[in-house]
Amino acid sequence: MRVPFLDLRASYGELQEEIEAELLRSVRSGWYVGGADVEAFESNFAEFAGAHHCVGVSNGLDALRLALRSLEVGPGDEVIVPSNTFIATWLAVSECGALPVPVEPDVATYNLDPEKIAAAISPRTKVVIPVHLYGQPADLDPVLELARERGLRVLEDAAQAHGAHYKGRPIGSHGDLVAWSFYPGKNLGALGDAGAVTTNDQVLADRIRLLRNYGSSQRYVHELRGYNCRLDPLQAAVLRVKLRHLTEWNVRRSRIARRYTRELAGCGLVLPYVPDWADPVWHLYCVRHPQRDHFRKRLSEAGVETLIHYPIPPHLQKAYAGLGYKRSALPIAELMAETLVSIPIGPALSEEQVDHVISTIVRTSNEPNGAGC
Ligand SMILES: *Cc1c(COP(=O)(O)O)cnc(C)c1O
Repeated sequence: MRVPFLDLRASYGELQEEIEAELLRSVRSGWYVGGADVEAFESNFAEFAGAHHCVGVSNGLDALRLALRSLEVGPGDEVIVPSNTFIATWLAVSECGALPVPVEPDVATYNLDPEKIAAAISPRTKVVIPVHLYGQPADLDPVLELARERGLRVLEDAAQAHGAHYKGRPIGSHGDLVAWSFYPGKNLGALGDAGAVTTNDQVLADRIRLLRNYGSSQRYVHELRGYNCRLDPLQAAVLRVKLRHLTEWNVRRSRIARRYTRELAGCGLVLPYVPDWADPVWHLYCVRHPQRDHFRKRLSEAGVETLIHYPIPPHLQKAYAGLGYKRSALPIAELMAETLVSIPIGPALSEEQVDHVISTIVRTSNEPNGAGC
């Protein structure tokens, strides 16, 4: 049996008729930038995320970048970011000319450790970016409280957390701004690049609307030095269909995660830890294994595809060599890069495929050099 890491073609097949009808309708409308499809998706997604405003943009990196620009982050400013995130979180800060200041995660949740943020604040700090990594909500209340005390703004990176809840409320408006990606592999994915920012702040929402469209709300009148970072109406039409199925697809992911957590307990793996205030959406199911590469090889031989999120932390990437970090500078991020492995999870995975993943891991851990199950 083959278990692909993520089967986007199977997911597409499930909604094919609905999506193709909407695409055809959108193409035939004669409206190819902005317009009703974009506005309808923005309104639906704002409601889903429990936010007053949603601004559709071109992708997740641009969502972060425009959000930072709307907060007037620029050269000389510092922005606190997790040491263990997809590099886009850091790149958005660098692109604004500001300095990403990494803070190590909590080793149990893999999310930003509120206790370590205070030590990283300097007079130049303007924004903190908690990332809801792997679909697990970060502990927002202590971050929001600290930000209020120290006059900082909070921008959440929710690129992996569509539908996640923190203390019973959907991710989407806890911080000042929330950035989303609809990259095809995310829980809510377009058929190409797409993104959005949600917020309850009308002023910031208006500013991001300007920034995404050449700094202009009236044709050929430019209030800001903006960008062309608009959400494509065809992607908006697709996203509107997929949003209707997102909750059900997240439930499927949760069921698989529950099985993994129950049936892989005691197999020598460090399984994901979920605090009682968190309702995650299992964008990824990441485990830690002391002999990670051997473990991956055994799974691969059984047809089970795994990936590493992420093999090199941002501070050790060549792109950030200029910041001068040495190995061991951020040990938790480095430990994660060395030991984490993501096993298949997704809405298209069958019961039999999940059985196969579990039985393969149990068998592997009962081998002479396994951890025992
Ligand atoms: C995917 C992702 C992004 C970037 O989104 P794109 O749409 O690919 O630009 C940003 N942050 C995190 C945590 C992500 O997973």
